[in-house]
Amino acid sequence: MGTTSSVASPIVLRGVPVVPGVQYAPVIRVSRLPEIQVPAGDIDEADRPAEAGRFAAAATEVATRLRDRAAHATGAASEVLAATATLAQDRAWIGAADKRIAAGAPAVRAVSEAVDQFVDLFTQLGGLMAERVTDLRDIRDRVIAELSGLPEPGVPLPDIPSILFAEDLAPADTAGLDPQLVVGLATTLGGPTSHTAIIARQLGIPCVVAVSGLDSVAAGAMVLLDGTAGTVTTDPDPTAAAKDVAAAQRNALAARQWTGPGATADGHTVAILANVQDGAAAKAARETPAEGVGLFRTELCFLNRDTEPTVEEQAAIYGEVLEAYAGHKVVVRTLDAGSDKPLKFAGHPDEANPALGVRGIRIAEGNPGLLAHQLEAVAAAGKATGNQPWVMAPMIATAAEAKSFAAKARSHGLTPGVMIEVPAAALLADKILDHVDFLSIGTNDLAQYTMAADRMSADLAALTDPWQPAVLALVEMAARAGAAAGKPVGVCGEAAADPLLAAVLVGLGVTSLSMAPAAIAAVGSRIAQVTLQQCRAAAEAVLATGSAAEAREAALARLS
Ligand code: PEP
Ligand code: MG
Repeated sequence: MGTTSSVASPIVLRGVPVVPGVQYAPVIRVSRLPEIQVPAGDIDEADRPAEAGRFAAAATEVATRLRDRAAHATGAASEVLAATATLAQDRAWIGAADKRIAAGAPAVRAVSEAVDQFVDLFTQLGGLMAERVTDLRDIRDRVIAELSGLPEPGVPLPDIPSILFAEDLAPADTAGLDPQLVVGLATTLGGPTSHTAIIARQLGIPCVVAVSGLDSVAAGAMVLLDGTAGTVTTDPDPTAAAKDVAAAQRNALAARQWTGPGATADGHTVAILANVQDGAAAKAARETPAEGVGLFRTELCFLNRDTEPTVEEQAAIYGEVLEAYAGHKVVVRTLDAGSDKPLKFAGHPDEANPALGVRGIRIAEGNPGLLAHQLEAVAAAGKATGNQPWVMAPMIATAAEAKSFAAKARSHGLTPGVMIEVPAAALLADKILDHVDFLSIGTNDLAQYTMAADRMSADLAALTDPWQPAVLALVEMAARAGAAAGKPVGVCGEAAADPLLAAVLVGLGVTSLSMAPAAIAAVGSRIAQVTLQQCRAAAEAVLATGSAAEAREAALARLS
């Protein structure tokens, strides 16, 4: 017979780690709009213009407040708030609400129905549009609160440092967070690229997303949130929790003191590089110890363009990144258009399943000019700046594609490589390396295609976790092929930004790690604290596991 105890035993809830760091604090929750009683009947025709005026004033007030907060925030937080303010005044949903008011609906009902209409549409469109659904619902609740004379819904201001639980956080919630008081974040929904994740990264608040079971934890309960392991532990042993927090603080201190270059404790060099999307980001990355750029996502420069930028225009943009990293390695990726990053001028066909469709290098088949112009621009930028970059193609699936790309890149005097994002390319990495000079593993897409799970889906986030041993087995194959050919193999997906996983990648044979600049110090300092032998032992142990959670535990046991 078991003994009874008044102390609840700890429960470990698992999610997807987004921002590293460990915190032990009480839970607070986002306040939501209370149930509003909407009058069922229509309003008199004579009163409709006034109701339309009330609605316009409320929407404007909400947008103005968001814009005000954007002006007081910085960086990504400011951009996210400004984008939400713009959405608050978007003519499409405002027009839909106006129409309903003109037909007799009270403003609250009109807002609710109009937003529902667009939520359905965005959800059907999927991808990046589906991620905006949280933003739209947030705007709806704020406008309804304003119309109803209620306080604005959102995050409460805690008196003591607390961990915020939510279903998903709207940009306006996350952007206003005070990292001194909200010391951890856990959400039920959201993926690693959701707004919650972007802002948490910027503010450096330890964060785990897609956690199931958060609803069962009461506000005020003490929890241990581990943004590296991706766990939330309820009712942990307070002494053990305090020890974990202290160890994480030591890691954070080591990160602040790390100045590069990348190497293990026993001197095995691993280049630590930055992922950037334009010249401004490259300049910002220079403030970190990053030794170069491992991934320049060129398509992000042109998401709003209707027409193809000229060669000169492209060369000027690429030149900014090359100049920021003069004398250092820069890897330019050719346009990765399609799927969640459509480019208007790439002429994407209508496809039932764009992630498996004409994207990345496949665009060049139907539109060879696009690739030719881009390579010409990259080469021109190299000449103009005196920093000749490496160039790589996304979404390579066959050795023939690699061969064709390499020939084109070499004809412009560029050093060619390809991304390993498709399992077929990892399996035949040795054949691909017959043609190119380096590989760069995109673990975001590699996980998506290995696990047959949409990387944008919060429901499938546990499958697209880069700790999945099947994904890491493919990384090992590519790294082994690189070692045999004597050619470098880097990782530039989100996996490289996880300090513990980065050490495992080194053990798997990866020669460089490229990541969001915010992750550079934590990754570089973690690699500096472990030996190559420890990394190899962790890699071997991880490959012997059967799940992402076991893989993390196996690595932790050998690397801490
Ligand atoms: C990846 O797939 O891991 C990658 C780095 O490319 P992107 O995230 O831009 O698709
Ligand atoms: Mg990719």
